[in-house]
Amino acid sequence: MSGWYEYVGNIHIHTIHSDGSGTYQEVAEAAHKAGLDFIIVTDHNVVVKEEEGYRDGLLVLVGEEVHDPERKPEANHLLCLGIRDDVSHLAPTPQKVIDAVNEQGGVTFLAHPIERSSPLVPKTFPWTDWTVRGFTGIELWNYMSSFREFAVNYAVGLVFSFIPQAFPEGPLPEVLSLWDDLLVEDKVVAIGGSDAHGKTYRAGPIRRRIFPYEFLFRAVNTHILVPEPFSGEVGHDARLVYDALRQGHAWVAYDLVGDTRHFRFWATSRAGRAIMGDDVALSDAPTLHAITPERARIVLRKDGEVVYDEVGRTMTFPVQEAGVYRLEVWKRAWGKERGWVFANPVYVRA
Ligand SMILES: [Zn+2]
Ligand SMILES: [Zn+2]
Repeated sequence: MSGWYEYVGNIHIHTIHSDGSGTYQEVAEAAHKAGLDFIIVTDHNVVVKEEEGYRDGLLVLVGEEVHDPERKPEANHLLCLGIRDDVSHLAPTPQKVIDAVNEQGGVTFLAHPIERSSPLVPKTFPWTDWTVRGFTGIELWNYMSSFREFAVNYAVGLVFSFIPQAFPEGPLPEVLSLWDDLLVEDKVVAIGGSDAHGKTYRAGPIRRRIFPYEFLFRAVNTHILVPEPFSGEVGHDARLVYDALRQGHAWVAYDLVGDTRHFRFWATSRAGRAIMGDDVALSDAPTLHAITPERARIVLRKDGEVVYDEVGRTMTFPVQEAGVYRLEVWKRAWGKERGWVFANPVYVRA
């Protein structure tokens, strides 16, 4: 699949400008060590635009995570990316935030839209305002939501911190079905987020920085495909990133259990080639294709239902019916099958 360039990024990061522990420099160094191409920092209700730029070959972009701190209970965290100006004063009305970001040419993602509570981390921050329209997509997998899900007590929380690979098995099933439900209505782009804070957790005498930035930058990432390579000019490369996110030319990657670089999901038809996120017409007789970096279980879903489920490295699937086709790859690691790739759909239109 030539003509596309892949870049690996980590989205949803907090620094000392809100409740994170790292400076921009520290966060960028961690991302550089983890081998990322770009990061998008999203502090709470603040856009630290002057920090945007290249550091050591790493593209550092600045957005924000908007929420209304006055709202009780807390809910409706919105990732606002690709904006010039802070929109957090509009937080009491999420629709106004979405509209303002769209006016600035940015993109919005509902952060951790469903979370499971656990005894160690009982507080959750779900999305509750389902009247909203015009948002770009959802954060399909928030890594810290996974921690919240498994951390039933300090002991398990600590074990999680030492062998994190043994815990998460994928995005929450309820978030996956939420995505399928939303896709019936409209295009909804999925991204992965780390929600990195670099915080130190204490359990009695044990003090441990359980989720350092560098670790999280090797866990749940978002890979994008762009039509031209990064030039090194911030404005140009930022546009490529946000265009890819807007169009769903991206997949959610659990890179901790194996690098997902070179994964591809695309369609060929009489009209040419389309990739994840794109529309194709059923009348052009499309065939869907996928290739994975190593042998794994490839699952294709049409409107949420499984239509292909095979172990292999490639998939070829001639399409007979219109629908929303999205691809999952599951990989065995640490004794269990784990969600490895969640690709944005190819939309086959009647
Ligand atoms: Zn949040
Ligand atoms: Zn956050």
